[in-house]
Amino acid sequence: MKDPLAVKVRIRNTEGKYLSGDLSDWGFSEDPSKGIVFDYLRHQVAEQLEQIRLTRGIVLEAVPVDPKEVFETCDQCKRFATAFGTFFDGNRFLCLECLAQSPVMTSAPQSRSAVAARALSTISLL
Ligand SMILES: [Zn+2]
Repeated sequence: MKDPLAVKVRIRNTEGKYLSGDLSDWGFSEDPSKGIVFDYLRHQVAEQLEQIRLTRGIVLEAVPVDPKEVFETCDQCKRFATAFGTFFDGNRFLCLECLAQSPVMTSAPQSRSAVAARALSTISLL
């Protein structure tokens, strides 16, 4: 893989369930498609998992995601964008282009990447 930063992973526990949900309501799901996708290097997944293991005694592993899986359709233009190139405006996931044209810019949009990063740090703080 040319860009190691592009490695996406899901987090799996010893029961084979995937870390899923969002910041306020996370848990583990048997359905991989519900698993939160992390950016392995950017989110320092290895370090975070080690931290969780040391502080919580919870063993989790990172499972690579098929690159084809991490593409999502923009809710507006229906074009494909990477999961990390889509932004949530409060109601919909939009690609950067649609976001720029969106009249709904009242709240600061969050990238999924940022949400995922905070989800991980929330868990390590538990
Ligand atoms: Zn779009």
